[in-house]
Amino acid sequence: MAKKQFKAQSKKLLDMMIHSIYTNKDIFLRELISNASDALDKLYYHSLQQDVSGLTRDDYKIEIAVDKDARTQTVSDNGCGMSAKELEDNLGTIAKSGSLDFKDGMENKSEVEIIGQFGVGFYSAFMVADRVTVVSRVHGSDEANKWESTGVDGYTVTPCEKETAGTTITLQIKADTDDEKYGQYLDTYKIREIVSKYSDYIRYPIMMDTETQKLKEGTENEYETVTEPTQLNSMVPLWRKNKNEITKEEYDTFYQSKFYDYEAPLHTIHSKTEGQISYDALLYIPAHAAYDYYTKEFEKGLQLYTNGVLIMDKCADLLPDYFSFVKGLVDSADLTLNISRETLQQDHLLKLIAKNLEKKIKSELEKLLQNDREAYEQFFKAFGLQLKFGVYNGFGIHKDTLQDLLLFYSSSEKKPVTLKEYVSRMREDQKTIYYACGETTDKIDLLPQADAVKSKGFEVLYCTDDVDEFALRMLREYDGKSFTNICASDLDLETEDEKKAVEDENAAARDLLDKMKGYLGGAVDTVRFTGKLKTYPVCLTSEGALSLEMEKVLDRLPNSSGAKAQLALEINRDHPIAQKLRDLSGTDDEKLEKYTKILYAQGCLISGKPLENPVQLSELICELM
Ligand code: ADP
Repeated sequence: MAKKQFKAQSKKLLDMMIHSIYTNKDIFLRELISNASDALDKLYYHSLQQDVSGLTRDDYKIEIAVDKDARTQTVSDNGCGMSAKELEDNLGTIAKSGSLDFKDGMENKSEVEIIGQFGVGFYSAFMVADRVTVVSRVHGSDEANKWESTGVDGYTVTPCEKETAGTTITLQIKADTDDEKYGQYLDTYKIREIVSKYSDYIRYPIMMDTETQKLKEGTENEYETVTEPTQLNSMVPLWRKNKNEITKEEYDTFYQSKFYDYEAPLHTIHSKTEGQISYDALLYIPAHAAYDYYTKEFEKGLQLYTNGVLIMDKCADLLPDYFSFVKGLVDSADLTLNISRETLQQDHLLKLIAKNLEKKIKSELEKLLQNDREAYEQFFKAFGLQLKFGVYNGFGIHKDTLQDLLLFYSSSEKKPVTLKEYVSRMREDQKTIYYACGETTDKIDLLPQADAVKSKGFEVLYCTDDVDEFALRMLREYDGKSFTNICASDLDLETEDEKKAVEDENAAARDLLDKMKGYLGGAVDTVRFTGKLKTYPVCLTSEGALSLEMEKVLDRLPNSSGAKAQLALEINRDHPIAQKLRDLSGTDDEKLEKYTKILYAQGCLISGKPLENPVQLSELICELM
């Protein structure tokens, strides 16, 4: 029997494909199963046109078998089968897709969902097999034919016997090498894993004989190993069902088993979209952040299916970074796949889906915020940080999407509130949204400045995450209201008369204040008296664009530029210490210097700024004690 040769380019193409198109060998099985499923679809389609098969849809199946001794894996289907000519055409010509031709010839394309389109998937079998044998018999014909090839050196087609119609593909699995354990493709466990990962939603049963332990008949605790046909795929893509047919429990179980979470999701989003592009999306917001969520290792993305076959496990382009916590999948038949079907071609439809999903996620979060505050707060505890980073990143271009999803702890409500809620409560004479930063809400509550603002009856938002102030600065304003850090000097809380009185007092004490500033050797830009502090003796305020909190955050960064906040040391004019300082000036400047340094250290301690010289502080205190 003369061997027919692949054409020269085909040879190259085949070699290239086997060695470079696919990054993952496992997918050969996905390809063979997809072909089998297509073959069953075609038979089904024909049987709708005319009664050809003699089978009912319930008989349609795909079977996988292994023979460990012979090192073979077999994938069979009772689908349409191929004639000798079709074997030649479809398997002898690389990049010829009988399936695509079939689809093109169909009148109503939505009747069956054909997977194949490139005419290359079949050859991926050569990644794991030395020899591939295809035995096929067309339905309604008595003739069977065998196509056989060892890969690059050509193929043969010969008549043969086959009892039933359909196709059986036998792979002679390669010998193991140091790097590759091809033998794993003979393990039931591995085959199960691949099928449930890639082909779980193929709409025909994928059967395989598996061993299970069963109670021996007539005994109470004696077990025996029995081999029986087992269905490997679950067949039902939950997301294809109608929403009202799915229980919460089904959604939750699906999520937990699919995305390996011990907890049910906080929220489920199931949407079906038709129009310019049709897709089903099943999205979940987890109840808690995964252990690696806030690390570099975390990979965002949604699973991407077309026609129920998994194409990508984590399609990152489907989710913006600020919604990276969302888990789930998208299924669409409309996407342009890359030839390996491992990736997508740059696809504007994909962008369109991503845009729609973003809108959907946002509106679902808004609904949650409105209808189930407790759940939303739980969500925000887990993922709020990501939303705030989202506001900050990209120079604030996403702020419109995100600003109404933010929560900050409120000094007056004693719970997290939205900016909208804050603004709705603002007094008429209030020009700005007040916020304060610190390690914890308790610590912020103790800030002298917080006391000053609260005592005037204003609500203050407490920021306890590093990114908070950066995000607020990026927002610049909300609903026309600016943001003001209460530890900034320009709070403008006093009446004109009060301001005037303080200004006069500072002018009169210029010598004293300058002297004090000098003692601090450049640590602060200004020393002054203030009327805003009520009972507290002293505080540090920042004057420029950089606040003290931001300075702290920046200092912690690996390549800190050492940028410093401009500071003012403010002393409560109504506190006895103010008089004490006046008395010391000129009479005991040595003591004045010590007092000044202690007051500055107090200011640092209260605002959480690290002391440059704690030893000096303790010595100064001892000297004065
Ligand atoms: P694709 O599936 O993208 O079309 P393949 O290289 O996987 O490309 O297969 C080439 C062609 O071979 C298919 O289009 C189909 O016509 C035919 N084919 C492959 N496997 C089978 C099968 N099990 N039954 C019938 N036809 C098949």
